[in-house]
Amino acid sequence: MNDADTAARSGPRAPRTHLTHPPTRAALLIQHRVLTSVRATLGRHGFVELPLPLVGPVTDPGVRGAKQADVDYYGTTYKIMTSAILYKQAAMLAFDKIFCIAPNLRLEPLDTAVTGRHLVEFHQIDVEAAGATREEVMELAQSLVTEAVIDVVREAPDELERLGRDAGAFAELLDKPFERMSHAEAVTHLTALGVRQSGTAEITWEGERVLSAKAGRPFFVTDYPKGSRGFYDRESIDAPGTLRNFDLIAPEGFGELASGAEREYEPGKIIERMRETGENPAKYGWYLDLVREGIHPSAGFGIGLERLVRYVTGADDVWEVCAFPKLPGMITR
Ligand code: AMP
Ligand code: MG
Repeated sequence: MNDADTAARSGPRAPRTHLTHPPTRAALLIQHRVLTSVRATLGRHGFVELPLPLVGPVTDPGVRGAKQADVDYYGTTYKIMTSAILYKQAAMLAFDKIFCIAPNLRLEPLDTAVTGRHLVEFHQIDVEAAGATREEVMELAQSLVTEAVIDVVREAPDELERLGRDAGAFAELLDKPFERMSHAEAVTHLTALGVRQSGTAEITWEGERVLSAKAGRPFFVTDYPKGSRGFYDRESIDAPGTLRNFDLIAPEGFGELASGAEREYEPGKIIERMRETGENPAKYGWYLDLVREGIHPSAGFGIGLERLVRYVTGADDVWEVCAFPKLPGMITR
C-alpha cells in the first residue's frame, strides 16, 4: 500500500501535513491548470465570468438528501447556496452567456462520506446560456472536459506522473464524442447487472459507480424522470414526465462530473413544478417576481471542480485534491 492509499483510508490529514504533502501540491497545481483551461475555453465561446451570490433567501432544493445551512441575516434566515441555479437564470437578464466558479455548501448525508466523491464544501464550474438547447450545452460540457484534459496532459506532465496518473487513461476520451444513454436505458442496463433501480427516481450511488466503472471514457445519461430533479429542469413537451436534462459521468468509477438541463422559465409551469416537488412557491418571492416579469429560456450545467480534478489526477478520494477538505460528518478546521 502506498502513501496515497494509506491517506485515502484514514481521511484528511492535518492542514500543514496536507498542504505540504507533494501529491497534494501536484493535485492543486493540476486544479489551477483545469481552472485556467476552463476559463480559456469559456472565454473563446463568449462567456462572461460573473460571480454569483453565496447567501440568499432560498437556494436549490433539488439536492439528493443534503441539508441546507442557515445564516442569520439581520434577523431573517437566509440559506448558504447549495447551488446558484436561480441566480444563473436571473443573470441571463444581463448577459446571454455567463459562468461562475461558484462555492457551494451541502450538509451531505453521513453515508456519502465513504463514496470518495462527496465534500461538504465544493465548487461548481457553473455555466448558463440564454436560448441554448440541451444538445448545445452538452457539447460545451464535453469541450470543457476534453480541453482541460488536453491542457493538463500538455502543461502538467510531471504532476500527473507524481500522482501515478498515466496520460494513456485519456486516450479513449480524446478519441471521439462522448456516448449517450437515456435514464431508462441506464436503469435497464443496471437491472440486468443485478443492481436494482427505480425507473422514476435518481440512479443510486451504487448504480452510478457501477455504470462509471464499466466505462472507458466519459458519457452522458439523459432524460431523467420528473420526480428525480428540481423544479427548474425543463419537462419535455414530447415526452411528459421526463426532463430535458443530463448528467455527465466520468469513467473508471469516478462517477458524476456534471448535471445540466434546459430550464423552466414560464411562471405557471415553474409554480406547478414547485408544487409537484413539494416546494412552497411563497418562499421564492424574489425569483417568482422576476419570472413573472419575464426571464429568458436558457440551458446550462454545473461541473464539480473537485470531481473533475479527481478524475484528471486519478485520486482515490475527492478530498485528496482539495486544499481545505470538509467531509460529511467529519469535524475539521
Ligand atoms: P448537482 O446540482 O447535485 O448535480 O451538482 C452539480 C455538480 O457538483 C455534480 O455533478 C458534481 O460534480 C458536483 N457535486 C455535487 N455534490 C457534490 C459534493 N457533495 N461534493 C463534491 N462535488 C459535488
Ligand atoms: Mg447531479
